[in-house]
Amino acid sequence: MLKVQDLSFAYHKQPVLDQISFHLERGQHLSIIGESGSGKSTLLKLLYGEHDLKDGLILWDDKPILGPKHKLVIGSDFMKYVAQEFDLMPFITVEENVGKFLSNFFPEEKKERVTELLEVVELTPFAKTKVKTLSGGQKQRVALARAIAKQPEIILLDEPFSHIDNFKKQSLRRRLFKYLKGKNISCIVATHDKDDVLGYADKMIVLHNSKIIANNTPEQLYKDPMLPLVASFFGEYNVINDQILYANQLRVVDISDLKVIVNTSYFKGNYHLIESNINDSVVFFEHKNSFEKGAEIYLEVIK
Ligand code: ADP
Ligand code: MG
Repeated sequence: MLKVQDLSFAYHKQPVLDQISFHLERGQHLSIIGESGSGKSTLLKLLYGEHDLKDGLILWDDKPILGPKHKLVIGSDFMKYVAQEFDLMPFITVEENVGKFLSNFFPEEKKERVTELLEVVELTPFAKTKVKTLSGGQKQRVALARAIAKQPEIILLDEPFSHIDNFKKQSLRRRLFKYLKGKNISCIVATHDKDDVLGYADKMIVLHNSKIIANNTPEQLYKDPMLPLVASFFGEYNVINDQILYANQLRVVDISDLKVIVNTSYFKGNYHLIESNINDSVVFFEHKNSFEKGAEIYLEVIK
């Protein structure tokens, strides 16, 4: 189990993380979310032991994770880390990169393992390709496969699908997270994409101004975001009478107290997102059809 207690850190004077505490059980999946610059990558690097803490404690199974001041080699076998800027060996093949840290003592087993890993990240046809010729997204998939090769107990992933195109992203995400759950590998994912969180994460932490401003299950935070910043992570929202309402919580009715003037309709596939105005403020709602600009529409809150 991972325990983070009162962790604080600053690169210079300005604190990046201030009194961060949370814990994670074996096999659990935690998402760390926050705006760009909120300290997500820094937190993962601290967990990995890349920097020395200013204050606090990080424990894995009650043993401290130490920074470079106290440890010669950064990282450990039980924990793997895939950085935002993954570093691979460009002049060797995909399968050689993936198997880099696997023992050559049992060549058959190694071969099977690499085959299995390439399937998880959908790179089987590229096994013999030199990494330097791959796209950014393909390289990211090689880095993911290499990180899970030796079955760590916990894996830290920094925006793991950021370079991967939408055609591949959905299935890769499903395969990778299913694989980690199946092997009971804890995982911590820094992301700003709600699709990395919903349906996968057991818990999520929101970082803002160096602090944790929310820590709960994604379902609980979706249903009761409490703060506009948390709601904005999940989608378009409104604050009406001090209540946070997602665009999909408003519906069109014949008459109500909430009259809006349509501004823009955005096609979103199975619905339209409508941007409308009420006096000077903007109201977003969803509807199956689009509306003309200037149309007068009445809305009500879906209970
Ligand atoms: P995120 O991953 O959420 O975008 P980071 O952890 O990368 O955030 O950055 C948090 C803050 O720390 C930012 O203000 C960033 O500019 C600063 N920072 C990150 N890395 C360094 C560094 N090596 N030296 C100095 N400041 C840094
Ligand atoms: Mg980052």
